[in-house]
Amino acid sequence: MTRRILFAALMLAAALLAGPPQSVSLRGRLETGEKPVLRLDDGRRVHLESDAPTMAVLADQRLKDTDFEVLGHWEAPDRFAVDHIHTRSLFVHKNGKRLMVTYWCDVCYIRTYSPGKCVCCQKYTDLDLRESIEQ
Ligand SMILES: [Zn+2]
Repeated sequence: MTRRILFAALMLAAALLAGPPQSVSLRGRLETGEKPVLRLDDGRRVHLESDAPTMAVLADQRLKDTDFEVLGHWEAPDRFAVDHIHTRSLFVHKNGKRLMVTYWCDVCYIRTYSPGKCVCCQKYTDLDLRESIEQ
């Protein structure tokens, strides 16, 4: 093995050991839409990006202008990658409480984490902000 390959292997091992970067929190006013923006207290506008189910939440008009918090990491000074939907990284702050963004079908009692039709009865699910996912 040449020294260069050995070095590359060591760097790869170090990257694997370190794991994904630690998530950080970002909070501001949510501008919903296909290209969602979080408006910070200091006036900065940060573009949010993530997987499709998370983007669907960030486009939900019912969350427009809420005091919103996302977990993820910075991609650029004006760009923030939100952790994917399974990590439950979306919150609304309301009346001093930190609420998880969930969706609820009151016909089937099925909870989801992205807006859309209920998988069971096809009813459009209700936005349901919750302190915890426990019933
Ligand atoms: Zn249903």
